[in-house]
Amino acid sequence: MADRSAEETDLFAIPVTKIKGVSAPKAGELHALGVSTVGELIEYYPFRYEDYRLRPLHEVKDGEKITVQGRIETPPSLQRFGGKSRLLCRVTVEGLLLTAVWFNRAFLKDQMEVGRDIVLTGKWDQRRRQLTVSESEFPDKGAGRTGTLQPVYSIGGSLTQAWVRQRIELALAQYGAMIPELLPPELLDKHSLMPRREAIHRIHRPENTREGQEARRRMVYEELFLFELRLQAYRAMNRKAPDGIAHKISSDDIRAFAANLPFELTEAQKTVVNEITRDMKRPYAMNRLLQGDVGSGKTVVAAIALYATVKDGCQGALMVPTEILAEQHAKSLGKLFEPYGIQVALLTGSRGARERRDLLASLQMGLIDIVIGTHALIQEDVFFRRLGLVVTDEQHRFGVNQRSILRRKGLNPDVLMMTATPIPRTLAITVFGDMDVSTIGERPKGRKPILTYWVKHDKMDRVLGFIRREAELGRQTFFICPLIEESEKLDVQNAIDLHMQLRQAMPELAIGLLHGRMTSAEKDAAMGQFAAGESTVLVSTTVVEVGVDVPNATLMIVMDADRFGLSQLHQLRGRVGRSDHQSYCVLIADPKSENGLERMQAMTDTDDGFEIARRDLELRGPGEFFGTKQSGVPEFRLANLMNDFETLEQARDDAAALTAEPSFWTAQAYAGLRDYLRREAPDYSEPLD
Ligand code: ADP
Ligand code: MG
Repeated sequence: MADRSAEETDLFAIPVTKIKGVSAPKAGELHALGVSTVGELIEYYPFRYEDYRLRPLHEVKDGEKITVQGRIETPPSLQRFGGKSRLLCRVTVEGLLLTAVWFNRAFLKDQMEVGRDIVLTGKWDQRRRQLTVSESEFPDKGAGRTGTLQPVYSIGGSLTQAWVRQRIELALAQYGAMIPELLPPELLDKHSLMPRREAIHRIHRPENTREGQEARRRMVYEELFLFELRLQAYRAMNRKAPDGIAHKISSDDIRAFAANLPFELTEAQKTVVNEITRDMKRPYAMNRLLQGDVGSGKTVVAAIALYATVKDGCQGALMVPTEILAEQHAKSLGKLFEPYGIQVALLTGSRGARERRDLLASLQMGLIDIVIGTHALIQEDVFFRRLGLVVTDEQHRFGVNQRSILRRKGLNPDVLMMTATPIPRTLAITVFGDMDVSTIGERPKGRKPILTYWVKHDKMDRVLGFIRREAELGRQTFFICPLIEESEKLDVQNAIDLHMQLRQAMPELAIGLLHGRMTSAEKDAAMGQFAAGESTVLVSTTVVEVGVDVPNATLMIVMDADRFGLSQLHQLRGRVGRSDHQSYCVLIADPKSENGLERMQAMTDTDDGFEIARRDLELRGPGEFFGTKQSGVPEFRLANLMNDFETLEQARDDAAALTAEPSFWTAQAYAGLRDYLRREAPDYSEPLD
């Protein structure tokens, strides 16, 4: 990982078996922790510290863990029961007589002489004046851990904390002097960071909390800086070539198109349209993320960008994650573009072979201006005549690969990625560090907040009453139930059952059914009927989760809501509240499920997608939040994206400034960092493609 010239010994080339006590079997166990070399051992950081510093007893609260020093006052008494034992002893600490209790440490009995000093670490029971001892040591035996912070490592197998601690200490003693510096001195100065060698020593063995924090701060900065350096360097290298499409776009055209829309664009929409068209006019390929909460009106922004590319004689592609969404977009955009003579086609996996062949031929000949589709768009046999703009909707659903394949179908087309999973800014710059970000931060005028409630399963009657009331007002209801794939499980009510039950309970209402196992034609029909108002209730699995737009639907009911993640619930809720009518979301949930109550609370507290995303991240962590593989969210060893975002922004700015400097690419001072990039960046050239 670190830069080392040839004559220097590479710590990452020295096997960990060089450390005293690391036998082959132990090395195997270390390997399972990702440690095979001395370098990796040295960089195997503790995830917390055990505090053995002495504290005055009167400051300690009941139930806290403490370390105190005292004097043994009575001979110990040992009780045995079953195979277990309990050792009791009276000790004075700061003039207070207390009882110390050890479990299963009978062997200590002989060492407990009256009058001997002893250091006790354990849990304090204020009322009984009793300390349940987890660890103890005798000061007369020489310096032990008393007064220190001891690192705690993640361990497994037969490895113990003490053993790992000792191996790392040995490694630092033997090889610590060889730890190289990675950061340029100007950055160390700028942020008052300690040198790398010192930081690594101290992170394992801090004198005090502050020192541990400072050491960590240095290593976190380095980790984030190197991460950003890869992104920014890639960006700098690729920015040089103006080999994108410089669209010719007339503002008058755009204005005229916007004026013909059935509504006026919000200020936020106007702003992002400007940002996007400005990018499109440049000879560099656009790489922009458009984020906006559900219902903020991203589709029309995409439509304007697609219009602009077609006006300039190019083709546009819109890729969406589900067939239902593809159908919906094809219909609405088809209608929107019809007066302009712009040809819109739909390409999904369920097209017949013949139809598909015709469509592909038209696309290649340029007879189709805009193609909308699912991942069917990225198949090998899809060719464009002149692809100018690629838009991906709900982009977090696509893997990086899928996006880059579509991009390669043109000569550096502009790319616009839209996401309704609002990403906190800090995460956006991490995950999409190579992209520009536009945000629609407001919803169209007149939208009322969606009133959200959560109820237990026994309130079904009231839920049905709610559906009837909305139906009387002429409004429609989505009723979401958990995935049909899980229908075998008795506790999951599947869509088909629920559909039947609702039809029996409310025979007066037309109730549709939509789930993933229906054929495309069936899905299309069910969705079409609901969109046209022919059915009042749509019982559906999460296939409607993203993007579906039926403005007359005002009630979203989610069955077993505790089975869904927060962001998913927010997406589902976003299917309503798409008109001026008051909308509602009712979550039927079991409050006893794992952090179910927190999630229901979050949903009823706020309908701000950014706030929801923040809480979701807190509950699940970034990996799961984005869904593992697709996310591209890096795993950091020390950095925590929730807490270290300021450092991340700093690191980003520093890396951008450094790589923009021509000397970075030539000066000897940066040879180490360039080596690092050469070694580490190739992995990243694909995600950033
Ligand atoms: P999302 O950002 O979730 O994709 P959509 O693009 O589907 O949102 O828009 C949600 C609804 O709001 C659609 O019915 C759309 O026609 C409507 N809409 C979009 N922009 C405006 C606007 N400026 N004023 C009024 N309605 C709008
Ligand atoms: Mg959408």
